Amino acid sequence: MPLAPLSYSSYRTYLECPLRWKFLYVDRLPEEPRGYFTFGRVIHSVLEELVRPLVVPSARRVSAAESQRTLDDWQGPGAVVTGGWMSRQELLSAYDRAWLHDGYVSAEEEARYRQTGQELLLRFYDQLVREKPQPIAVEEHLEARWDGLAVHGYIDRIDRTSTGGLEIVDYKTSRELSHEDARDSDQLTLYQVLVERNYPEPVEGLTLFHLRSLKPLRAAPREATALTVLHDRMGEVSDGIRSESFEPTPGRQCTRCDFRSRCPEFRTVPDTEEDRLRTLVDRFESLRSEEGRVNDELKRTAEELHRAAEELGVHRVPGTNSIALRRREESWQYSLDTIRPLLERAGLADRLTSGTPEEIRRLVRDPTIDPEVRRRLAEAGARRVRWYWELDDSTGGAPPARRSS
Ligand code: SF4
Repeated sequence: MPLAPLSYSSYRTYLECPLRWKFLYVDRLPEEPRGYFTFGRVIHSVLEELVRPLVVPSARRVSAAESQRTLDDWQGPGAVVTGGWMSRQELLSAYDRAWLHDGYVSAEEEARYRQTGQELLLRFYDQLVREKPQPIAVEEHLEARWDGLAVHGYIDRIDRTSTGGLEIVDYKTSRELSHEDARDSDQLTLYQVLVERNYPEPVEGLTLFHLRSLKPLRAAPREATALTVLHDRMGEVSDGIRSESFEPTPGRQCTRCDFRSRCPEFRTVPDTEEDRLRTLVDRFESLRSEEGRVNDELKRTAEELHRAAEELGVHRVPGTNSIALRRREESWQYSLDTIRPLLERAGLADRLTSGTPEEIRRLVRDPTIDPEVRRRLAEAGARRVRWYWELDDSTGGAPPARRSS
């Protein structure tokens, strides 16, 4: 199927469950609204409205039409910012306008969230006035080709650092967040890639901004290895989507999946088919237990035959309809910890490539190698012998067909 650029949430959803990804991104089935998602959306949109007037041009944006006011226009902590900046009261009005009621389980829950959001926004506002960051973009949609992979994302905020580089900021309304989250976040890694491919300035920091505590959890930009790891994983997801591999992957995520009634892992057998399928399952169960019993008995009988054949010194034992033929299979095992130094001392280290027993057996038989070295190689191996039975039930000497240990 044709592939749209991959976003972080699309990638994450596919990793959790490819079938759920299909329901969302191919079938475009709607999900039930949930209060915490609605809350996050509202807070993000108010923060965008608050911070957008502060955006200053980046090196990339130099046209007069695009240039905006700079933070030099700020009047200091507590001031009512004029000329486009919001006052605290305007911020609360914007919050009231943006509020959505979808997805809360009760009026009490909604009121609790609403109160939390108001406090959080006012504290954020005060911190913004105090610290005067230098945002160069808010809610920016960026796309990129990343070594053959099409990716995109919406970035909450990009700030200019004091040294002229860029800091990527992603707001989080979740309750708990740690420095490890910032250090391990694939989302921030992807955003780094998007910003690096769209801006000339270097990315100097990656931040998850924990809105409830006003704590910026900062991490250093990712090294090449972390970028390669994510690129490979996203490449695998992209291959899965392209080849329409949409198998359900049940797990913890199922508890919050709205598509259980459509999912084979949860859908129930229709009443009209229940009896027929129950009979099949019962038959399968009984054959399974029979299979185990038969295998155990087969093994015990073969062992008894081996013992008798050894005592009598025979390899052909006639039955009523066929002849049991005793066969031998030999294999060798070597410890590479022994073989490797042996070959190194003989100057033959480059002759060991795969390290399989077959390769070492070839070296043991190789006439171009010193016989003493070959003898030591042979002595370093342990031979394993396995006896098994074949049944010759042919009438005219056709090759035996059935094997059993
Ligand atoms: S119920 Fe679970 S396995 Fe089924 S689609 Fe949803 S997440 Fe996937």
